Amino acid sequence: MSKMQELPAREELPEDLTWDLKSIYESDQSFEESFASFEENYQSLASYQGTLADGADQLLTALENILASSRHLGNLHLYAHLKNDQDTSNAKYQELYDRVRSLSSQFSVTISWFQPELLAIDEGKIQAYIQENSELELYRHYLERLMTKKEHTLRESEEELLAGASNLFSVPGQTFSVLNNADLKFPVIEDEEGQKVQLTHGNYSEFLESKNRRVRENAFKNYYSVYEGLQNTFATTLYGNVKVQNYRATVRNYSSARDAALSSNFIKEDVYDRLLEAVDNHLPSFHRYLKLRKKVLKLKDLHMYDMYTPLIKESSFEVTFEEAKEITLQALKPLGAEYQEILQKAFDERWIDVCENKGKRSGAYSSGNYDNNPYILLNWHDSLNNLYTLVHELGHSVHTYLTTKNQPYIYGDYPIFLAEIASTTNENLLTIYLLNQADTDTEKITILNQYLDGFKGTVFRQTQFAEFEHFMHDQAASGQPLISHFLNEHYYKLNKRYYGEDVVSDEEIALEWSRIPHFYYNYYVYQYATGFCASSALAEAILSDETGLDRYLSFLKAGQSDYPIEVMKEAGVDMRSSDYLNRAFEVFDRYLKQLEDLIQ
Ligand SMILES: [Zn+2]
Repeated sequence: MSKMQELPAREELPEDLTWDLKSIYESDQSFEESFASFEENYQSLASYQGTLADGADQLLTALENILASSRHLGNLHLYAHLKNDQDTSNAKYQELYDRVRSLSSQFSVTISWFQPELLAIDEGKIQAYIQENSELELYRHYLERLMTKKEHTLRESEEELLAGASNLFSVPGQTFSVLNNADLKFPVIEDEEGQKVQLTHGNYSEFLESKNRRVRENAFKNYYSVYEGLQNTFATTLYGNVKVQNYRATVRNYSSARDAALSSNFIKEDVYDRLLEAVDNHLPSFHRYLKLRKKVLKLKDLHMYDMYTPLIKESSFEVTFEEAKEITLQALKPLGAEYQEILQKAFDERWIDVCENKGKRSGAYSSGNYDNNPYILLNWHDSLNNLYTLVHELGHSVHTYLTTKNQPYIYGDYPIFLAEIASTTNENLLTIYLLNQADTDTEKITILNQYLDGFKGTVFRQTQFAEFEHFMHDQAASGQPLISHFLNEHYYKLNKRYYGEDVVSDEEIALEWSRIPHFYYNYYVYQYATGFCASSALAEAILSDETGLDRYLSFLKAGQSDYPIEVMKEAGVDMRSSDYLNRAFEVFDRYLKQLEDLIQ
């Protein structure tokens, strides 16, 4: 690994490997002019307060002016956040980004009256407005969505009290974050070369991938020793967060915290239950995979710290960025000519910021908005993993591109529930392509390992979290205090059920609940698993079904124009049934069988 090498400064990067933000604003100067004009105008939106019930024209004018402002603000935000991320140590862009963020929160305050005022209007009256002014027809679905919130909206004075307390409600999550990111001090351990290294969140996952078992075990035990010492505090922050979600759900007339969280995407709770059932039914497949892992690693016992070390050396598959572009175009050919053209645009118009540089935000993401290119941030290394990341992020970017080009602004975005489907469909297509192309067994094993590990992390692991998340909310709602002893005992049991009898359940793993930031995201994690499973079914349909591609493209173009479950139904996946889940497990089983045969 070359991580010890000095990273280049931002200015030293070749321009063609950086993103072109000039298409948002030509220069910082034009950003400043746009910022100033926004600042000057947005406060006038307050003048529409109290006019929404005056008539169809008034409603339309207020709505369109608010949307225009939010669209303008979106451009300011995109430019500032990307400039900041390309070098987070750059003080000028830090300041720019801070200014946009504080402008955003002022903007939210300025228009905070809008939704409650609209919800207070009688539904019949809204229908009459749409009849009266045909330009409101465009907003019918938007207004219909909003109206479903009516029965969960309280009296104005009560809403004010809740809004005023929203800062307090975020305290458990903030406390967790500060404790976990700023205050925790991890012990010093020895790396592969026997050098003393301070354990951190960042290098913990690298150590778990180590080929050297002593290093993995030491990292694992030392990491958890810190959580063990603070387990009562972590239980208190987590319990606090669960209480907040349960309280909010109760006062807003939802049947549970899960009902409240899923309702924001118009998802019924059976979607969640089907996932837990299907994963439970397929745990034997997971156990088979773990058995194979134990065999390939030639271990007598498979421990929890043996889960991330690669089955074979990663260096057996190196891909440069130039090669990755070519492979991407080939692998995604089944998505048709229109999709190919957009990929080519992404490469030619410099949507992608490829290389690592000093101060650059770590990881990878896709970020765009209605009026601009959907940009991609990468920290490229020549590996199979990075090829998958590129294809994944391009899945998000093309989704954004097709949505914004085919929908009006009001529907020109898509919910998180659908987002991961577009990105992981590409990963599935890449896997199929690479397996077809692979000449050697080593290559095939590397690809299958990449896929199966991805499935394990996205479907089995995230569902385990989803199950525990729901368990905690349920228990707390029925009066069970979430003390650390209780959480440890149940997490340990759950972990044992997921990993099976063949894996040594190290006692430290009982504490895993204490370190997972996603438990503060309010029923977020299940969507990783449902998204990945839906994408397996879609990738198969694209390749084998005559109408598969057209239906898939209709999903990429739909945005918020319909409810997420309906959008997926159009695409050919009924997410309220177990069928799509079972199809995903069939793919997992098939690849697992291939890997087993290759290793024989
Ligand atoms: Zn993603």
